[in-house]
Amino acid sequence: MDHESDYEPTVEYWVLAFFKSHSKNRAYYRQFMAAGFYEAFDTVMTFSEKTSCQILWYKEKRKCDSKFTKLGIPLLESFCTFCNKEFNNIEPIKCNYEKNDFSCKSEFCSLDCKQEHFYFKHIR
Ligand SMILES: [Zn+2]
Ligand SMILES: [Zn+2]
Repeated sequence: MDHESDYEPTVEYWVLAFFKSHSKNRAYYRQFMAAGFYEAFDTVMTFSEKTSCQILWYKEKRKCDSKFTKLGIPLLESFCTFCNKEFNNIEPIKCNYEKNDFSCKSEFCSLDCKQEHFYFKHIR
């Protein structure tokens, strides 16, 4: 039996801890949905490329200690994937790019950001 090929990571919440560039005395937390380590890694790398934030760690929320489950952690997606602007008040513009099994979960504050992202991530 080949268990490797049967393996499908479940979609679940991950917690990301990071420092904002200008201040290293306070850690910030965000949660995001990812199916398995590689998708989580991709999300975190995209986030770190677009910001100058210093990533501390990220792991499945269920593996975090209970202070994280009680804490209201903001969604990572409430930041524009491209320019990292917060856009809590407006409806996010979704990338929706799909290829094979991959579907892009990125969300943007504007159509310009979506177009830039689309070019850099999915065309180039
Ligand atoms: Zn944006
Ligand atoms: Zn995308």
